Amino acid sequence: MNDLRFLTYEQVLAIREEHGSPVFVYDQASLEAAADEVMNFPHAFGLTARYAMKALPTAAVLQTLTARGLHIDASSGFEAERAMKAGVEPSHIQITAQEIPKNLKQLVEQGVQYNACSLHQLRAYGELFPGRDVSVRINPGLGSGHNNRTNVGGPSSSFGIWHGKLDEVESICAQYDLKITAMHTHIGSGGDPEIWKSCAKMSLDIAAKLPDVKTLSLGGGLKVARMPNEVSADLQEIGKVIVEDFKAFAAEHGRELHMETEPGTYLVANAGVIITSVMDVVDTGDQGYNFIKIDGGMTEVLRPSLYGAQQPLTLVKADGSTPESDTDYMVVGHCCESGDILTPAPGDPEGLAPRTFPRTDIGDALVIGGAGAYCASMASKNYNSFPEVAEVLLQNDGSTKLIRQRQTLDQVLANEIV
Ligand SMILES: *Cc1c(COP(=O)(O)O)cnc(C)c1O
Repeated sequence: MNDLRFLTYEQVLAIREEHGSPVFVYDQASLEAAADEVMNFPHAFGLTARYAMKALPTAAVLQTLTARGLHIDASSGFEAERAMKAGVEPSHIQITAQEIPKNLKQLVEQGVQYNACSLHQLRAYGELFPGRDVSVRINPGLGSGHNNRTNVGGPSSSFGIWHGKLDEVESICAQYDLKITAMHTHIGSGGDPEIWKSCAKMSLDIAAKLPDVKTLSLGGGLKVARMPNEVSADLQEIGKVIVEDFKAFAAEHGRELHMETEPGTYLVANAGVIITSVMDVVDTGDQGYNFIKIDGGMTEVLRPSLYGAQQPLTLVKADGSTPESDTDYMVVGHCCESGDILTPAPGDPEGLAPRTFPRTDIGDALVIGGAGAYCASMASKNYNSFPEVAEVLLQNDGSTKLIRQRQTLDQVLANEIV
């Protein structure tokens, strides 16, 4: 196979012909394989694995993943409703959100689970549902996101209840007769088994102080290698060290904790690509750069502009030829915005790092790889009034199915009042 993981160059051109450009393509087989891997995460006393749906919330993807046994982590009340509309059992959905859903009462009455992420959230839940069991998200004081924008634990992160505030948690629970039966930490642990081990250890030490806790979620954040020089998390390796910690906890505290994990990226990142088209090629002279301009960009993928994230980029010649890569290009998106760039320096959205491609012509296809997670769901929709692009699913029989239509201009304008 080529560097596109699940598409041949012929398929790229055929899908572009059939569905137009740009278009997201998600691969059913890759989604299912990742789901099976996560469902087989090693555990000592039982496992619930959730899909963090904010990574890619399209109904067909939710259905593909939940059919393999995954439950759902929702980042807002709207996501919980969206999952229910896609057919997910309410009791399989847990909300872990920065903002309390305005309809939290109805959601919980329908069976959706709630994970309180601040003292205020815990109090609000207690007001609505005194006497109930509840889950709390704790910030254990450790974080490992690769920069300040992806760091979700430690003193610089606002997510979760600071681990030093358990006294306040206790007094809120006493006031509303709440029982904390589940605890959650999501610090973005990446791929290093040692970091997962210390996260599990810190989390278990906190769980030891919450005597009713029966379930411990270690969150998501499993690292995925999008680029050839990166290394993906090894779930079996990571799971092995965590299993030992859970067993040691059981031996010491007499509690066999059920484990939860809730990856987003890991399940979908490499199951998606964006097929775009080259719509212009320009240069800025001998001392300058060559630029490939594509008909997509930050309207489909914001990660490079936000974090200097690296996405695989593959040039597919429109005539089907496969010449050598011999020319350096910057790749830029279609927005009138200098930050709309696909070739930033790694980790530095303001730096430039040209890549080498075959000599490129208008009409060639440029495929952005690793585009399953945080692309369609997070892009700067409708900027420059570009409509949202279509999404298709490459099914196991080799056919493609349209799973979200391209937006029309009328849909972009639908809520405007003139
Ligand atoms: C975003 C998020 C996840 C998933 O993170 P990934 O890095 O995509 O695996 C899991 N849990 C919570 C609470 C999240 O906010």
